[in-house]
Amino acid sequence: MHGKVALVTGGSRGIGAATALRLARDGADVAITYVQGEEAAKDVVREIEALGRRGLALRADSADADEAAGAVGRTVEVLGRLDVLVNNVGVGLLGPLPTLSPADVDRILAVNVRGVFLTAQAAAAHLASGGRIVTIGSCMTQRVPGPGGTLYAMSKSALTGLTKALARELGDRSITANIVHPGPIDTDMNPATGPYAAAQSAVTALGRFGSAGEVASMVAYLAGAEAGYVTGAEFAVDGGYAA
Ligand code: NDP
Repeated sequence: MHGKVALVTGGSRGIGAATALRLARDGADVAITYVQGEEAAKDVVREIEALGRRGLALRADSADADEAAGAVGRTVEVLGRLDVLVNNVGVGLLGPLPTLSPADVDRILAVNVRGVFLTAQAAAAHLASGGRIVTIGSCMTQRVPGPGGTLYAMSKSALTGLTKALARELGDRSITANIVHPGPIDTDMNPATGPYAAAQSAVTALGRFGSAGEVASMVAYLAGAEAGYVTGAEFAVDGGYAA
């Protein structure tokens, strides 16, 4: 990926940080977005730079329409081009159906759906031929093993439709769009030591949580040159959660 530029949204921690570092190890210059974790984002950029690549931390709230799209423009301004967008930002908002408010619906749609769409739309205007859009969905689009997931599963399922439609929209420019569905992955959002961890591990075939690096490996493949004929497709990295 030498000479390529990637933007990873939500790259200060978790799957996004692991992906940003993996793409940098593969040779790309990488911009990341974050909202709260300025120090964590700067640490990721320092690690990218230690790998000999250019890094850029952008404070850009995906819930804000201008900021979601603006991160793309700022990446191109500073790093000069855009080859890969990893739409990783997502928030979990789980709870029994009667407790979910209209504000909860708006919040999850703003971050998990509208922000992803607007970032992809902005990226499409800049992506070079051979560009890549990789979106992070969820194993809960494939299987919802218990109650409490209505809003989250709804929001993530929208991204499958977006991915397929983007593949059709951008195929004539040799730009691919794919979606990766992680299973339970050990991050701040879903710690492997959390109260619901054992139940999630039990639903997988492998009986364990995955690591952020295991998701990053799939993203790196889809972002790379070898995946040029792979588009509009869904990839589970879920330990067999949906099997
Ligand atoms: P984390 O909560 O560990 O990290 C989230 C990252 O996104 C942080 O860098 C955070 O930055 C950033 N972020 C959060 N909200 C916003 C926002 N509004 N605008 C910009 N950046 C934001 O999440 P994970 O790494 O666990 O999850 C990454 C993706 O994977 C999400 O889409 C999630 O839904 C999905 N996923 C995760 C699974 C899991 O088990 N962990 C399973 C299936 C899917 P800041 O430091 O500023 O908060």
